[in-house]
This record gives sequence, C-alpha cells and structure tokens, in this order.
Amino acid sequence: AAQRVGTNRHQAHTPDLDASAQHHADVAAALRHGLERGEFRLLYQPIVELPLGTMRAVEALVRWHPDGGKPVSPAEFIPVAEQNGLIVDLGAWILDTACADAAEWQRRHGASAPLISVNVSARQLLDPDLPDLVAATLVRHGLDPDQVTLEITETAVFAGGTALNTVHALRDLGVGIALDDFGTGHSSLTLLRTCPVTTLKVDKSFIDELNGSPQQEAIAASLSGIAATLGLRAVAEGVETQNQADRLYVLGYRYAQGFHFARPMPAADIDASLLTTVG
Ligand code: C2E
Ligand code: MG
Ligand code: MG
Ligand code: MG
Repeated sequence: AAQRVGTNRHQAHTPDLDASAQHHADVAAALRHGLERGEFRLLYQPIVELPLGTMRAVEALVRWHPDGGKPVSPAEFIPVAEQNGLIVDLGAWILDTACADAAEWQRRHGASAPLISVNVSARQLLDPDLPDLVAATLVRHGLDPDQVTLEITETAVFAGGTALNTVHALRDLGVGIALDDFGTGHSSLTLLRTCPVTTLKVDKSFIDELNGSPQQEAIAASLSGIAATLGLRAVAEGVETQNQADRLYVLGYRYAQGFHFARPMPAADIDASLLTTVG
C-alpha cells in the first residue's frame, strides 16, 4: 500500500474498494517498478509519403513488458500513468529514447533518415518544465528542432489553462506540433485558430470505409483540404489497404501511416529497412 499514490492512498484500505480501483492501484504500482527496472520499450511505425510509400518519419509507440512478459497496450497503462503522474518520468524516458534513436539514424543515414514523432499526453502538457525538457533533450542528442514533431490531442489542449501556453512555447522551440486523432474531438476546428499546429493526423475513423461511401470520401477530402488551405501537413492514420491508399492520394493526402505500409517495429528494423531502401 505504501506505493499507492494520490486518491488511491486512502481507498486502498477500505473494504468496499471495487475491483477496478484495486486493479488501477496495482497497475500504478507495477508501472513505477517497471520504469525502474527498464521494462519499457519503444516501437516505431513508419509515416510514409504517397503514392510510393517512402518512409519519411516514424512515430514512437511505447510498449510495457511487465516482468519481461507479454506486452501491455498503452491504451491500458497510459491513462493510469497519467493519473498517478508517472507519465512525467515515463514521458521524459520516451522522449530521450526516441531522440537517441533518431540521432543514431541521422548519423548512419543522413538525409534519408526519418524524422521522429513523439506522443505527449495531457498531463505532460500541464508540466511547465516540458519546453525546457524538450530543449535539453534536443541539445543532448544533437537534433535540430525541425527533426522532431510532438503529437498532442485536442482534449489535452483543453484540459487546462496552461496547456495552450506550453504548446506555444514548444512550437517556439521550432519542433513540429501534430494534432493526433484529428476530427474526433468536440472543437477540432476551433483549436486550429489558437493552437500553433503544423500537422493534422486525420483519425482512422475517417479513413475506414473509404471505398464506396460518398459521405466518408467527402469528409476525408474536406479534412485534407482544410490542412492544405492552412498550410498544414495532413497524415492519414490507420491505412490498412491499397485501395484506401489509392483513394487517399486522389483525395489530396500526401502522407499516410498504417498496417498496410508497416506495423510498429523495433529501432533496429527501421535501421535495416533504411539500408535496403533508396530514399
Ligand atoms: P496514437 O498516437 O493515435 O497511435 C496510433 C495507434 O494506432 C497505435 O496503437 C498504432 O499501433 C495503431 N495503428 C497504426 N496503424 C494502424 C492500422 O492500420 N490499423 C489499426 N487498427 N491500428 C493502427 P498503440 O501503439 O496501441 O497506441 C495506442 C495509443 O496509445 C496511441 O494512439 C497514443 O494515444 C497512446 N500512446 C502510444 N505510445 C505513447 C507514448 O509514447 N506516449 C503517450 N503519451 N501516449 C502513447
Ligand atoms: Mg500518435
Ligand atoms: Mg494517432
Ligand atoms: Mg489514434
């Protein structure tokens, strides 16, 4: 119980603690140990340029292997890490590891090395030290700011008063800012007026069913059109078929990401694919 933090501290001793709260507290404690024991790994999923599918960037996606066992999905543990605050330390590790790998690709592959995209959670955006952390990490690894994009969500920006200021400070460093899961929030278009965004990552839900649904095609085309009008890059998320890729190109998309092109993979596999690809 000593390892439980925040609201769970008192609840942990009450007999009516429900199963999900207990599970939550157990996961929170295990996550702390996991970070100390080095149980986290990063995978990288290529972001490709259409129509040829040339890798231009990669998105870092964290995996947790508790006790070296089967990986736990970030969808399960990121929310817990957000609530107990561990995401701040975990996020610093993710940023450092991703930048270290990106710098290594730069050294080995020069201009054909992929840019790096790193997810930043709502809680991290509420940390006033985040811009300093990002700046120090870039310097430590010798990366230029324009080689790094931070992926944020609409909910994160609306979560607190200081989050938007922090996004401006990050953008002022020169890093790219991508709006993740774009179009799924309640005020996606409003945000474009105030948030210094460079990339829209159009959510998978708008990319699914691209064949044969005129409504879906119209929405996907509108979203790429908004990006083009505002001078932003649009990336289509969750592309699973060649048909989707073909339609996306016709609808104005020049960048895409999804299992059709590549699954998330270890850094060494990105390295190997660069040796066999003419960039
Ligand atoms: P996201 O940032 O939108 O990442 C894309 C997710 O979609 C990844 O799931 C990826 O594996 C999955 N995906 C990519 N292409 C396809 C496809 O063609 N089909 C389908 N069905 N899925 C596809 P993953 O790795 O499980 O991550 C889930 C979410 O967890 C991420 O969504 C992000 O919100 C969060 N996350 C992952 N890594 C990190 C991290 O390092 N830091 C933070 N703060 N959040 C992370
Ligand atoms: Mg993302
Ligand atoms: Mg995404
Ligand atoms: Mg998503």
